[in-house]
Amino acid sequence: MTERPDPNDTTKCPLCGAPNDCAIAAGRDAESCWCMTATMSQSALAAIPADAQGKVCICARCASRTPADI
Ligand SMILES: [Zn+2]
Repeated sequence: MTERPDPNDTTKCPLCGAPNDCAIAAGRDAESCWCMTATMSQSALAAIPADAQGKVCICARCASRTPADI
């Protein structure tokens, strides 16, 4: 059985459920978030559930995934 990450939990990656370290979810400035300097994999962005898109940050590990990893 696979545990489905909660799309409304902004502190967790919607893809794998791991803590995403998002500065915004932690109440810090968006500029201090790791994602501002990271390169997001297009396939990872495309894999984000529709109800989590634009709301929940993915984690650094998923952001650097290649299509072969998903
Ligand atoms: Zn993740």
